[in-house]
Amino acid sequence: MIPGPIEFEPAVLRAMGENTTSHVAPNFIESFGNALDLMKNIWRAPNGQPLIIAGSGTLAMDMAAANLIEKGDNALVISTGYFGDRYAEILKRYGASVTILKAATGEVVSLETIENALINKSYKLLTITHVDTSTGVLVDPKPIAALAKKYEVLSVLDGVCSVAGEEILQESWGLDIVLTASQKAIGVPPGLALMVASKKAIETWENRKTPVTNYYSDWANWLPIMRAYQERKPSYFGTPPVNLIVALETSLKIINSEGIENTIKRHQKLASAFRSAVLSLGLDILPANNEIAANTLTAIYYPKEIDGSTLPGAISELDVIIAGGLLPEIKNTYFRVGHMGSVSSKDIVTTLSAIEYGLHQTGYNFEPGISLKTFQSLIM
Ligand code: PMP
Repeated sequence: MIPGPIEFEPAVLRAMGENTTSHVAPNFIESFGNALDLMKNIWRAPNGQPLIIAGSGTLAMDMAAANLIEKGDNALVISTGYFGDRYAEILKRYGASVTILKAATGEVVSLETIENALINKSYKLLTITHVDTSTGVLVDPKPIAALAKKYEVLSVLDGVCSVAGEEILQESWGLDIVLTASQKAIGVPPGLALMVASKKAIETWENRKTPVTNYYSDWANWLPIMRAYQERKPSYFGTPPVNLIVALETSLKIINSEGIENTIKRHQKLASAFRSAVLSLGLDILPANNEIAANTLTAIYYPKEIDGSTLPGAISELDVIIAGGLLPEIKNTYFRVGHMGSVSSKDIVTTLSAIEYGLHQTGYNFEPGISLKTFQSLIM
């Protein structure tokens, strides 16, 4: 129950285990092409350019920065935690002058603050972390994308912990890049950096005055490859991770057959009931209110009266693995539970009972069964 890598569907794992074919074999060309087409559906970007590259989510972040930033460009980072701060570091590496708007822990940056920053300086690009996995805080990207449009700034959404778990309408909201990694709600073992780029993002890259300084990330190398697979033609730049891409096609088909809107509703319902269950135990969560609490994971403070460091171990006695804290300042005061992808209400029931067991072991005082009762009453 950690927030990635998640538990994968058996069909996805079976697809991973199929014979590895040539990257130009007809069956693989079809799978790669299907995966690219399905991404456009799931991202809601019918005219976007999907890219599937071997690497982790950080590569997707890096690739957007490498291709869109030139030395001296101004970039605005809206940070709600650890991964926002990482984006600032990546952008600096490509020579950007970065302004970072940092939310207080558990809060979001207000639209007024963002608009003031955009009024006061001209930016090439802004980044949003949709769900910061260190805090479980959800940012609403829609009004920020609208502001970016108003001030003619490119918008990049780090959707590593949100794509296929939170609502995203890339094209109608006007987001220029929406990026993610395979191991989260997309439901494929780690190893794929995924993104969809808007026409404007591609044009910005085409109009660069200086070459992209990162050879592997350069869209000049990858766009012809993606376009070839979309046209079901063989192509080569770097050997694609054949098995992971076949697994991606399988997982995207599963999401597509549930219907992306239904997938997101399922995430919403489970997350909201899980949060209520956690609160019924007398615990506090990091996000300041429900509107900014993610569907994909929940960050929960250890109760003050117990030694929190012993809780994850006690929970794992019932075979439920949860994650510790990640935000350096408060790392030892909270834990995180992922609930994305194939997670079902059965998994949540098991998790809540393990959390209750763990809390009991630490001597915390609560009404046994209360979180299960709360959860059940909300999902029935
Ligand atoms: N952004 C967010 C919001 C993430 O949660 C993560 C990974 N937890 C990353 C970026 C980086 O992804 P990866 O670990 O796959 O490089």
